[in-house]
Amino acid sequence: VGKVYMFMIRLKLPGGKLTAEQYLVMDDICGRYANGTLRITTRQSFQLHGVLKGNLKATMQAINEALLTTLGACGDITRNVICCPAPLPDAARTMMREHCQLVAQALTPQAGRRAYHEIWLNGQPLPHPELDEEPLYGKTYLPRKFKIGFALPHDNCTDLLAQCVGFLVMTDNGQPTGRPIGYNLYCGGGQGQTNSRPDTAPLLAQAIGFIEPDEVIPAAQAIARLYRDHGNRADRKRARLKYVVHDWGVDRFREVFYREYFPFPYRPPIDQPITGLDLHHGWHGMGGDRWFLGLSVENGRIKDEGSLRLRSGIRAIVSRFRCDVRLTPQQDILLCGFHTADRPAVENLLAEYGIPKPDTLSQVQRWSMACPAIPTCGLAITESERALPAIIDQLEVVLKELGLQEEPISVRMTGCPNGCARPYQSDIGLVGRSGNRYTIYVGGDRYGRRLNRELADLVPVDQIVPKLTPLLRRYQIERQAGESFGDFCTRVGIDSLRSTIPAS
Ligand code: SF4
Repeated sequence: VGKVYMFMIRLKLPGGKLTAEQYLVMDDICGRYANGTLRITTRQSFQLHGVLKGNLKATMQAINEALLTTLGACGDITRNVICCPAPLPDAARTMMREHCQLVAQALTPQAGRRAYHEIWLNGQPLPHPELDEEPLYGKTYLPRKFKIGFALPHDNCTDLLAQCVGFLVMTDNGQPTGRPIGYNLYCGGGQGQTNSRPDTAPLLAQAIGFIEPDEVIPAAQAIARLYRDHGNRADRKRARLKYVVHDWGVDRFREVFYREYFPFPYRPPIDQPITGLDLHHGWHGMGGDRWFLGLSVENGRIKDEGSLRLRSGIRAIVSRFRCDVRLTPQQDILLCGFHTADRPAVENLLAEYGIPKPDTLSQVQRWSMACPAIPTCGLAITESERALPAIIDQLEVVLKELGLQEEPISVRMTGCPNGCARPYQSDIGLVGRSGNRYTIYVGGDRYGRRLNRELADLVPVDQIVPKLTPLLRRYQIERQAGESFGDFCTRVGIDSLRSTIPAS
């Protein structure tokens, strides 16, 4: 018997949008061809894990028959374009949702579709002739992956500053309900770093300028071209757009962008800071008699386990109410479009399948995320998704003892420094280092506005919470009114914090 190969398949799903029918097809596919689970990614998409090589083509065909695709979900091109998933009727979100879809469409590669169809679908080439050269990406595509996100100042649920390119909606009065007038354009964010390469680091995107709504697609394409031309193709570890912005500095980046790539006038960014991040948990009115329900999905894994039959329960609700589905960049799910009269029956189904309402979960669980890591990611150094629940359990005990259980402290964990769960922006970041050891970072911000700093390296997994406990104790005693854990850590400083923790 030869080796049995298994694969991960990822959808391209701009804005995380699925119809009820598409969701049910994905549920069916994961049971038939994958490991019986659906994994929500931090880019608002689904991954299927454990697809055997012999099932690849049938899986891809089933995905495409549901009018979904994987084209553009991986590779050195624009990845899944993300935006706030809340189906709320305000003008700012409506504009942002439309632009998210348009940008995703405009930056999808044009060449290669014929090969995709021939290889994965019915073996027939597409009717139009294949392009010799990809019009946007050129012969060699981009130096590396390219990530675009949209957000609102009061709701940064996409972690805008972690994106290569970010569009932050501006309104005429600076209020969420105001008339949208355009976007502050950000460039140069990214999480990944490489151990033993001090010239690599997580970086936050920086404001480049203000653009009007009809300039969004030209701006996204212009930055892609600039990156195509100036990104580092000699050193893959420093190939991301963030290093172009960092190495050039914002002023030079802006000058080259406006002079050579973007034929619109420069307007300075509007002074409008990010002030919040909404997880969209619980019931929310969509306008009229319509509601959506946000459910917390632990580490994005939709599965049945023990008395928590999350996959079966969501399937039952979607089947019965034909509700649209939105995946969130915080690895959660929104079920959308219920009538007021539906709500009791939905709540009964949640209880029947053992699905907790988000307000019954601890704050630290609701604000936690983990990447898949071992056993499904080939780049993983350590566990992540399978390790975080036990760490959250321990933290819940400590936080309760300290009376801090109502503090929304974000904890994000990854199995390697690539940072897929964006650990470098959270209050507490845990990054796989070697074997069962992790680097602990503290002092970030649950709204994604600040990078955290290294507290301790090579910490065994069972020492993570004991290392954090003295910090949490200090926070409980020394915090100022309304101060978050990340803000506290930043105020007292990393040296003071390091002197607080026990030696290994
Ligand atoms: Fe894999 Fe590393 Fe990304 Fe986790 S952070 S999914 S281990 S590449």
